[in-house]
Amino acid sequence: MDWADDSEQAAFRARVRNVITTSLPKRYSGGDGEEEGSWERDRRSPVAEHKKAAEDWTKALAQQGWIAPHWPKEYGGAGLSPMEQFIFKQEMAASGAPSVGGQGVSQLGPTIIIHGTPEQKAEHLPKILSGEVDWRQGYSEPGAGSDLASLQTRAIRDGDEYVINGQKIWTSLAHYADWLYALVRTDPDAPKHRGISFLLMDKHTPGLSIRPLIDMSNRHHFNETFFEDVRVPVRNRVGEENRGWYVGMTLLDFERSNITGAVNGKRTLDRLSAYLKTNEGKAKSPGAKANRLAIADRYIEVDVMFNFSFRIISMQTRGMVPNYEASVSKLFNSEMSQKIALTGTRVFGLYANIYDAKDERAPMEASMSTSYLRSVSSTIAAGTSEIQRNIIATRGLGLPRG
Ligand SMILES: Cc1cc2nc3c(=O)[nH]c(=O)nc-3n(C[C@H](O)[C@H](O)[C@H](O)COP(=O)(O)OP(=O)(O)OC[C@H]3O[C@@H](n4cnc5c(N)ncnc54)[C@H](O)[C@@H]3O)c2cc1C
Repeated sequence: MDWADDSEQAAFRARVRNVITTSLPKRYSGGDGEEEGSWERDRRSPVAEHKKAAEDWTKALAQQGWIAPHWPKEYGGAGLSPMEQFIFKQEMAASGAPSVGGQGVSQLGPTIIIHGTPEQKAEHLPKILSGEVDWRQGYSEPGAGSDLASLQTRAIRDGDEYVINGQKIWTSLAHYADWLYALVRTDPDAPKHRGISFLLMDKHTPGLSIRPLIDMSNRHHFNETFFEDVRVPVRNRVGEENRGWYVGMTLLDFERSNITGAVNGKRTLDRLSAYLKTNEGKAKSPGAKANRLAIADRYIEVDVMFNFSFRIISMQTRGMVPNYEASVSKLFNSEMSQKIALTGTRVFGLYANIYDAKDERAPMEASMSTSYLRSVSSTIAAGTSEIQRNIIATRGLGLPRG
């Protein structure tokens, strides 16, 4: 396989690199933007410098038309081909640049483009593209995650409004968001996939409250979202009543390779290896030989991950739709990130128990220990590993459903 860029791809890659070199705010160079949610956090930050970094980066991408790489041009997207999206993401990840626009760009925009009314398109798409409104997803509930269609949050029609009662959970970054999109049950008597509707709601609607859930790395990433007689206009429903399940599953032709995971894995290993060669790194890392072997194994896994990504992008470039192949890539990527984090803590022995980044005894400012704790969620988020294995077994290997 020859994965070298052709001349057009090389020119596009050079353009992306040039924008990064000239416009990526200093705050993000060196990798500070790579953590999920850094743009969302910074745009709401009370620290003027952080807020400005998020705004400047939004403007720089908007000038190129790159806020929404996979949206069609007629809706303000870049209309990039899957291969161009792949190159774009690869370069963004390599520089540690944060992605802009969050789930408004990745999920809600495409959903409105396909299922929205002209009024919904005119109202919401421009504000996603300008970074003015950040959207977050309210799908999961305490009793509905992998089996999402069993969700119970109830919406009852009352004239021109729905009245919503219930609870969502794991609503990532909702504390920074302006609006939420949610799946709610509008017909409790219909078969479970057919009684769901897709609603848009301003986060500040009376009766809607968001409470923090602090994860084990002491980070506020998720929230619980409660609805008590929340009134949402019927015109905020996307698609037909009771057809929300199908609306919620909409995907545009976006690149599904997980290339960001491969690039981030390599960056982490490069940082770890470089640190272990310093005097400080040597002093804090006993068992040099075992460490070397473990790190070599992780590099090999990263290489495998690059190849899974290349496989998917080559399918998409040929107009094929990845199916179980995307599950293979997601499964391998999330387990790889956990193994990298585990290796990154093991090499430091007892020093890895120090989680305080400011403690001078903490190797690499405790970044490995923190990512070890955070990596636990990677095999749960966006479809658990067991669910991915079910897909691979049934759709990929043709095994019967259990
Ligand atoms: C970091 C992170 C961010 C998230 N962000 C959001 C968000 O913004 N909005 C949102 O709505 N949700 C969000 N979620 C929720 C996420 O979608 C769910 O956690 C996920 O779908 C799993 O659902 P669950 O937690 O209810 O676990 P469950 O579905 O209850 O699963 C529990 C266990 O049972 C296993 N299991 C379940 N069904 C099967 C099966 N059929 N076969 C084999 N094993 C099975 C699972 O693999 C798992 O090990 C987020 C989760 C994480 C970790």
